[in-house]
Amino acid sequence: MSTLRCSICERYFDPATSDAMPFCSKRCKQVDLGRWLGERYSVPAERSEEDEDEGPSRHSSDGED
Ligand SMILES: [Zn+2]
Repeated sequence: MSTLRCSICERYFDPATSDAMPFCSKRCKQVDLGRWLGERYSVPAERSEEDEDEGPSRHSSDGED
């Protein structure tokens, strides 16, 4: 008996019983598709840190008033 590992739910399943290869179920297939589209249409939230590494922002009142 050969098993495959579903990349969505990470469970091992029997490919012979799956109707949504290479996933264990149609549900996982949908999840994968959703992720795929999600990544494509939404901006990854990895840029939320922006420039917080500039330390305390000093007051910009240096006499240029
Ligand atoms: Zn699965």
